[in-house]
Amino acid sequence: MDCGEGAQRGFVKYGLGLNREMLILITHLHGDHVNGLIGLLQTMSMSRRVRKLTIVAPGELLGWMNNTVKVFQIGLTFEVQFVAVKTGTVLRGTDFRVRAARASHSVDAWSYRFEELPRPGVFDPNKARALGIPEGRKWSSLQRGRSVTVKGKKFNPAQVLGPERPGRSIGYSGDTRPSKALVRFFAGVDLLIFDSTFSSKDADKAIERKHSTAVEAAGVAQEAGAKKLVLTHFSARYTRADSLLRDAKEVFDDVVAAHDGLTLEVPPPGAV
Ligand SMILES: [Zn+2]
Repeated sequence: MDCGEGAQRGFVKYGLGLNREMLILITHLHGDHVNGLIGLLQTMSMSRRVRKLTIVAPGELLGWMNNTVKVFQIGLTFEVQFVAVKTGTVLRGTDFRVRAARASHSVDAWSYRFEELPRPGVFDPNKARALGIPEGRKWSSLQRGRSVTVKGKKFNPAQVLGPERPGRSIGYSGDTRPSKALVRFFAGVDLLIFDSTFSSKDADKAIERKHSTAVEAAGVAQEAGAKKLVLTHFSARYTRADSLLRDAKEVFDDVVAAHDGLTLEVPPPGAV
């Protein structure tokens, strides 16, 4: 999500892998959100990436990207699928989808919501045996949600599977003012990553520059019923994120301040 300057160095440093299945979501065309893209594409090509790369971004990015790749003679070793962002579902995969909503920033800007699709419930082998369904191919079909026929009798997955398991969702605001529309867009996300450029003391600057304060980020998380909040995009005027974190904690409990290399587990909904 976004590709700031030095993105490729971070990829290498944290061992994220340059040939993995990957999706890049760009929120808006400010340098600190896109300057790392060309470097990342070049590093991927140098490490002989072969898998297709999908980029979702404001449509204007495409011309700049293609032109720069050409002028620098980067010679991409993989296919790039470019998707111009629009409101609603922008991309569907076999087990996920990505939705976008308009953010409120000084230029055309977007927020993203990455969602795993619900998974079939847990398979109960005892039930399958009791129904006389033989182990093997028929079991795996049922596990994948397909009906099977045994000796002329039809069995459907609901007879042997537990309740459907909801997928996880991650919301990312990009640079934005808080809004009711974003509260609705991020409803119930497991993880919300939100613009937290300023502290409450500098609330006037947040309004003027179309960013959010830590308290406003926490307010969105609280109203949206997010499970966890990550504050990010801190102004260089703060040497430490402590005061921003303190601000946010007054409104929303489960909050952390992002830093390079931060790793978080996102447990499936309902897990304890
Ligand atoms: Zn910006």
